[in-house]
Amino acid sequence: MSRLTYITMLLAAPLAALHAADLSGVTVRLDGYEGPATVVAQLVEPFKMRITVNPANETKPLVIRVELPGSGPRVWPAADVEVRDSQGKALMVRRAGIEWSKLLIPVPAVAGDCFVRAVQPSGGKPSLPSEKERVLVDGATGLRLGIAKWHDGRKAALSIRFDDSHPSHLTKAMPILREYGFRGTFMINPGVSEPGSRRRSNFESHQAEWQAAARQGDHELANHSAHHRGAVGDENMEAEIGAAAQAIWKLTPGKSQLMALNLGGGTWWETTRTLRYYLDKYHQFDASQNSTGMDDSHGNRVASFRRLLEQHLERGLWYRVHYHSIGDGAGSSEANFRAALDVAKEHSSKLWVAGMADIHKYQSERNASKLKLQQSDSKRLTFEFICQTDAALFDQPLTLEVTHPQSLDASRLKVKNAQGDIIPLRAAQLEGASTLRFDVAPRNAVYSIEMTP
Ligand SMILES: [Zn+2]
Repeated sequence: MSRLTYITMLLAAPLAALHAADLSGVTVRLDGYEGPATVVAQLVEPFKMRITVNPANETKPLVIRVELPGSGPRVWPAADVEVRDSQGKALMVRRAGIEWSKLLIPVPAVAGDCFVRAVQPSGGKPSLPSEKERVLVDGATGLRLGIAKWHDGRKAALSIRFDDSHPSHLTKAMPILREYGFRGTFMINPGVSEPGSRRRSNFESHQAEWQAAARQGDHELANHSAHHRGAVGDENMEAEIGAAAQAIWKLTPGKSQLMALNLGGGTWWETTRTLRYYLDKYHQFDASQNSTGMDDSHGNRVASFRRLLEQHLERGLWYRVHYHSIGDGAGSSEANFRAALDVAKEHSSKLWVAGMADIHKYQSERNASKLKLQQSDSKRLTFEFICQTDAALFDQPLTLEVTHPQSLDASRLKVKNAQGDIIPLRAAQLEGASTLRFDVAPRNAVYSIEMTP
């Protein structure tokens, strides 16, 4: 069994690098420790690892550091990972807010085992349609239908995120984005100032402006935890995530409750639960990873933005960037902020600039959708659109594209829903061929396409 790796850690070598051993990409060692105690790790099944502590004559508590591969072919589903002792009791694990794949597990200096494992999400993984099922080719009408990869058939998506509810988001970022017609994602910390704390919340000091921005509704609000200070213990962590989610729901009544969550850089979180528990309970998705920091201190931001945006356009992917404050002496100067937006504007015919939840919804809905032919003759095609996502949370319209071997004329085609309402069509060019596009709600429905000669 090649999967069964058995490696002894903590050789008496002085180099930290030698303390790490490879377990299908996982590293396990004692954190900040030099002494007689050792840990031994063994992968007992995919995504389940046994760690054995041998304290030797150590008496002080130990901390086991586990680093799971966060990307690549051996990636672990970090949001689903928990740690239990040999009696099955969930152990407290400490993690940094934006590095959920790195675990610190405090343990007493006694001989024993603990298990690090990924828990299957409740209800298991839904079986999703294949990419082939998202295309329908009909011989009778000659029509070809497909679900566009991104909204309106754009080549790639771009989200522009702003962290920490900084006042310049209200005075600079939002109005400037409006000039460009772009939608931003604002990660706020809506917790009220805590007793005994002298730090007054940025959000609280500008609450009326945030309420006005939420009412205007052209930007998206997202969860950056209530206070941006991490949490110790399950209840405290739940309060930090839950209170921020509830505050945002209150600011956006009647809207889908699904939102992006980013626990924040420089924060520590201690919990016995999986991150998935909190994500599912509060309709959040993890938006902390794979983002380009746009603060000027990183250097060459506009050039990097252009290069990375073009790469994502080429590959048809979602490009994420994030800012902190905007303005003179702020994280990003207004000039650099505008210069990056100018680059996005140059590509705007191919680029969908949208909120993180909008893009996440589109992606999830599309993955859970398929097209099914009901009937067709030379003049008419009826098909079923099937979408498995929860309509209360996932409300981003999907774009369908219709092509025909001969050139398609919008005036020759009519799309109707089951009630007979006409769905508006948009004409476009797709890889040289003329295409018609229309948007559908992400829920099961029947549509028909009528062709006139
Ligand atoms: Zn932050």
